[in-house]
Amino acid sequence: MLDLVVKNARLLLESGLIRGGIGVKDGKIGVIARDEHLPDANIIIDANSNILMPGLIDGHAHIHDPAMLDHEDFTTGTRAAAAGGITTVIDMPLTSQVDTPILVDEKISQGESIAIVDFSFYAGMINSDNVPAIPLLIDKGIAAFKAFTCEPYYANNGVILRALSEVSEQGGHLTVHAEDQGIIDEFAKDFQDEWDAPVSHALSRPFIAEQYAVKQMIDMAERTGGHLHIAHVTTADGVREIEKGKLRGVMVTTEVCPHHLLFNSDEMNRLGPKSKMNPPLRSKRDVSALWSALLRGIIDLAVTDHAPSPLQEKEVGREDIRKAWSGVDGLQMLLRILLSEGVNKGRITFEKLLRVASLNPAKLFGLYPRKGALLVGSDADFVVIDPALEETIGEEMMFSKCDWTLYDGMKVTGTPLMTFVRGVQVYGDNRMHVKPGHGQFQPMSGYSPIGV
Ligand SMILES: [Zn+2]
Repeated sequence: MLDLVVKNARLLLESGLIRGGIGVKDGKIGVIARDEHLPDANIIIDANSNILMPGLIDGHAHIHDPAMLDHEDFTTGTRAAAAGGITTVIDMPLTSQVDTPILVDEKISQGESIAIVDFSFYAGMINSDNVPAIPLLIDKGIAAFKAFTCEPYYANNGVILRALSEVSEQGGHLTVHAEDQGIIDEFAKDFQDEWDAPVSHALSRPFIAEQYAVKQMIDMAERTGGHLHIAHVTTADGVREIEKGKLRGVMVTTEVCPHHLLFNSDEMNRLGPKSKMNPPLRSKRDVSALWSALLRGIIDLAVTDHAPSPLQEKEVGREDIRKAWSGVDGLQMLLRILLSEGVNKGRITFEKLLRVASLNPAKLFGLYPRKGALLVGSDADFVVIDPALEETIGEEMMFSKCDWTLYDGMKVTGTPLMTFVRGVQVYGDNRMHVKPGHGQFQPMSGYSPIGV
């Protein structure tokens, strides 16, 4: 007897959609079959012909920083994740360093005591003092490292070269927030007294700051052989540099966020300080280039960069956008935007959705095949989605600690109905089904090449 069967679904496999269901035993997928061949189970759920896909793996979210627990924590962040069809969150530090084995142990125990979905996390921020800790952190199951080419955690090219050499030898990857600080500093001088318009934030961080930094980072990855991951690419020019790097065989991958796929900088004055994030919103042309790159496999992952703040930390930027917090919500929006603006508008296919949101992140973070695919023996992490259900996004549906959303009032088509982590339903009917503490730490091991 199985623990759980979900039948009458359209299963999203690498080869496409097929009719059938899955059976779960001890938290793992035990059977994938047509309905008539599914064994009996203690719990049987009818998916009503909706789509059942592997749970999303958000490769970039800021949910638990001990110094910023008024923004989000492991419970509220993973609650929002569950409601967004995300079954594993890769957390990234905001200000508190996670760069020693002791700090890794502390973060694992914090997460395992209060998280709802599974999690892993980045080490960072990388600087000249903690580069030597990289092998020790990999031994602890943390193989993803974060560095900045700009403030607030600027690391110079020497540090980044050393870190890339280290991951080249030890495994794992270095994720770089790539915007050139010198270009940002110089262009910001043009806006001396004009900071009351939110769009000034975007205009003061020009696209060339991204392109130039991306180009330099790829050059360093080429010289060292280290795996470089460019965080949240936003511009057509940044994408072009990454495409050129990939074509000449450099080990470079990248990711895109839902806000950069949806909004452009012309909308910032209407949206107000909530629309401030780094890198900023870009032009309509850049938005089109990002969708195209996602479709063509130049962009490997779709991630949230979820980093909201209490509303007052946004509102203080009404008169001077420089004072507003940089960061937006995303955990409940990623799947909705990929379905509504991507699949349902013909910009990407369901198979591409599976790749960029589940399969590729599982491979990048060394979680595959335990996570990221519907395979016999994999963890039973999945989400049932109704791709045709229409919904208006509202603040009342938010599970985040910061109960506002940049997407307020937007009409979307396609929504997650039920989310399961290791065979246990964690979300459904607009509520959580488990208590905090269900989430488990997922150590990163190895890397599987990502396909397009
Ligand atoms: Zn981030």
